[in-house]
Amino acid sequence: MKRFFRTVVFLASVVCCCGCGRKGEFDGTGSRQYADIAMGTVIRQSIYAPERTADTFIKTAQVYLEHLERDFLSWRLDTSEVYRINASAGSEEGCALSEEMAELLYSCMKLHRDSAGAFDVTLGAAVRLWDIDGWAAGREGEVFSPPSDGAVEEALTFCGGEQINLVRGAESRLFMPEGMRLDLGAVGKGFALAGIGELLKEQEEIGGAVISLGGSILTYGQKPDGSPWRVSIVDPFDTADSVGILTLRGQWCISTSGDYERYAEAGGVRYHHILDPATGYPADSGVRGVTVLSGDGLVSDALSTACFILGPEQGLALAAEYGAEVLFVMADGEIVMSQGMESYIEVGR
Ligand code: AMP
Ligand code: MG
Repeated sequence: MKRFFRTVVFLASVVCCCGCGRKGEFDGTGSRQYADIAMGTVIRQSIYAPERTADTFIKTAQVYLEHLERDFLSWRLDTSEVYRINASAGSEEGCALSEEMAELLYSCMKLHRDSAGAFDVTLGAAVRLWDIDGWAAGREGEVFSPPSDGAVEEALTFCGGEQINLVRGAESRLFMPEGMRLDLGAVGKGFALAGIGELLKEQEEIGGAVISLGGSILTYGQKPDGSPWRVSIVDPFDTADSVGILTLRGQWCISTSGDYERYAEAGGVRYHHILDPATGYPADSGVRGVTVLSGDGLVSDALSTACFILGPEQGLALAAEYGAEVLFVMADGEIVMSQGMESYIEVGR
């Protein structure tokens, strides 16, 4: 990992020295603002650092995210480790894993068990069948209709975290049954932000930063004036509004999962992108949005997805197990949160 970080920092410096580095907008408070596309979503970065350092860092982050997507996480690109793992499904030898992937999958399998199966990275076949991401992005001239019950049932036979076997050792291997597909969409952004947090630590001249990637946000360090970070939580009933503001100091990861993020509609019903592994259908736990606060991006991202499926009763217990705070916005507008969350949030619609 360390070697990789050194390589990206070097590559990014080369890119910037060549004069093609992106310039950030100076916002007058000491931070520079950048917006870009990464991992198929928007990345916004506010960096508190001298101009040249900030410009170089965002290139570093961009190179790192491109590497993650291309070489590690993407199920679409045949250059990635996940692609290689998926292609190995059903084979007797399984698939050799990088140390980083073995660690990530180990964490995912633990989360699967701890969430009573709600969080499941082996749902690839069902996720592809629904293809809510594709429909949400828009398909010219086509009308969405949900898959048949039979098709959902069939896809589910290729899913189930309890069916994979991760053997860890000097060379870790993963064994998956035929037809199974990994989909790390529920943890990719949080995992990436955790990596960016490590990159930030290597830059002494960066005093603070806030980076948002899809549904996850990383806060790091502090502002020059010492005031805290303020992060708003989207109101699922009006995404231009917020249900409250988190006041935070130092490094945190805040992840949100919601039925408003990616969905397709048919017959007046909203089919969103978070599937209940027990049914193969979009989760229907009476939750519209969940926000999780944790020091670890992988944990916040995975738990926001899991808690969306589990609902408040089980979700609060799961978050407590991981030392994370959680806030639920329910379909009737009620807000349910962990006790610890109360000390960070100022609720107000
Ligand atoms: P998030 O927006 O972080 O909640 O992640 C949602 C994405 O994770 C979906 O677009 C799918 O790719 C994937 N996914 C859907 N349902 C699940 C689930 N129950 N467990 C793990 N990943 C899921
Ligand atoms: Mg998630």
